[in-house]
Amino acid sequence: MEKLIIGQHVSFKNNTQLVGSVKEALSYQANTFMFYTGAPQNTARKEINLELTKEGQEMMQENGIDIHHAIVHAPYIVNLANSANSDFGIRFLKEEIKRCEQLGISKIVLHPGSHVGIGIEEGIKNIIEALNHVLEDSSDVQVLLETMAGKGTEIGSCFEEIKSIMSGIQKKTRIGVCLDTCHIHDAGYDITNFDEVLEKFDQIIGLKNLKCVHINDSKNVIASHKDRHENIGYGTIGFDQLLKIIYHEKLKDVPKILETPYVSIDGGKDRTYPPYKFEIEMIRNKKFNPNMIEEIREYYK
Ligand code: FE
Ligand code: FE
Ligand code: ZN
Repeated sequence: MEKLIIGQHVSFKNNTQLVGSVKEALSYQANTFMFYTGAPQNTARKEINLELTKEGQEMMQENGIDIHHAIVHAPYIVNLANSANSDFGIRFLKEEIKRCEQLGISKIVLHPGSHVGIGIEEGIKNIIEALNHVLEDSSDVQVLLETMAGKGTEIGSCFEEIKSIMSGIQKKTRIGVCLDTCHIHDAGYDITNFDEVLEKFDQIIGLKNLKCVHINDSKNVIASHKDRHENIGYGTIGFDQLLKIIYHEKLKDVPKILETPYVSIDGGKDRTYPPYKFEIEMIRNKKFNPNMIEEIREYYK
């Protein structure tokens, strides 16, 4: 039986680093994971601890987690489309790629950026120039451009824009794509006909460049350009549709990562708990659980 490659966003804490991330993933019965190497909203980063890395890698091996399925996400404040701060962005991403190497991780997801008024074309030019600098090093780590919802002035909300960026990258083997289901739905792709969307992706970008899929339901209707994730089966995309994507034959070797919202215990923002153990269970059972939210509350109470 072939194995579904499924995981979720996990934390990467200064004191436990990779060991903590692997343990968290295992606690959800996942066989992969994605994390920020520090806070997503800033670029303060601790040095990678070699002992924790070794221990984490061993733990992955013992539990059948292929390190090539694990993924780092670049902090979302890096904006290569806006030339004003791209020197900083380039420097930071180069260091981030080094951290990936130290951890043994081969893929880093990046939001292409927002043009903040200078226009899509200029924005794309900036991204290409900056990324070519980032990729000057001799590393093998791949940068995966994420498909975006098109919120504000975000670049990358259609396959053509992603393709334009890729076309300008000199080191083709260093660039790939991460498809986010909530984002493409919010961007206007009708994923009730996912085969057609995938066909389009293949024609424009090439399916072989698809290295990661973010599995999220959406709080908003198609083409809303909102980018608000919802728990699996609780949003406008729906469980059956997401299941078709998760188990799609053409995507079977691509890691699937959940980035769904934490569930609030009391309706407030202070006590929220991860839905992943429960979502992965639903996905493995191929059966929607309409009581999931209550069960999560009960479990973490
Ligand atoms: Fe992202
Ligand atoms: Fe995403
Ligand atoms: Zn998102």
